[in-house]
Amino acid sequence: ARALFIGRFQPLHRGHEEVIKWLLGRHEELVVAIGSANESFTPKNPFTVGERIEMLISMLKELNLISKVMYCAVPDTKGDSALWYAYVHGQCPSFDVAYTNDEFTRLCFEYGNVKVLNTPFFNRETYSGTRIRELMATGDKSWRDLVATGVLPVLGRINAEDRVRRLMQKQI
Ligand code: ATP
Ligand code: MG
Repeated sequence: ARALFIGRFQPLHRGHEEVIKWLLGRHEELVVAIGSANESFTPKNPFTVGERIEMLISMLKELNLISKVMYCAVPDTKGDSALWYAYVHGQCPSFDVAYTNDEFTRLCFEYGNVKVLNTPFFNRETYSGTRIRELMATGDKSWRDLVATGVLPVLGRINAEDRVRRLMQKQI
């Protein structure tokens, strides 16, 4: 059976890495869907979909998992989340079951009669996109330990820490 794992990956971190490995232990094939694909350069979604694709491919190459994973991009439906499952259907390779730990995402899938399962949490307090963006904004380099090693060169090349810090500065 083919599984789908969807997230915003702002940025892709070690929690996502552990989920992807866990899913590949249970499914021959995996689709990683990049959500909020139309969002970038905001405090919550600092990275473009292209940059997030680079993070994913770079990590998968380093882990030798590239041949087992397909990826796709799903934009937001803005106010009308009832349409969201249809966007997923239109944008993603077909899949048998979707995995998410996000309650709103689960709600939207269930509305579309998509089978949804949870994954375990891995170190959720530290492996968190919100936490990583906060560390980046304060210039705390410990965020580097929270992303996969394959992701680091991508974040370095695009000056991710500087971008996040500037996006999170209060506008005056
Ligand atoms: P943000 O804080 O920006 O929302 P996030 O860490 O929740 O970032 P997302 O891209 O929103 O990451 O999440 C994608 C999926 O990964 C969700 O289903 C989320 O529950 C799951 N996830 C995130 N972190 C972990 C973790 N440490 N262990 C297991 N699952 C995780
Ligand atoms: Mg989240």
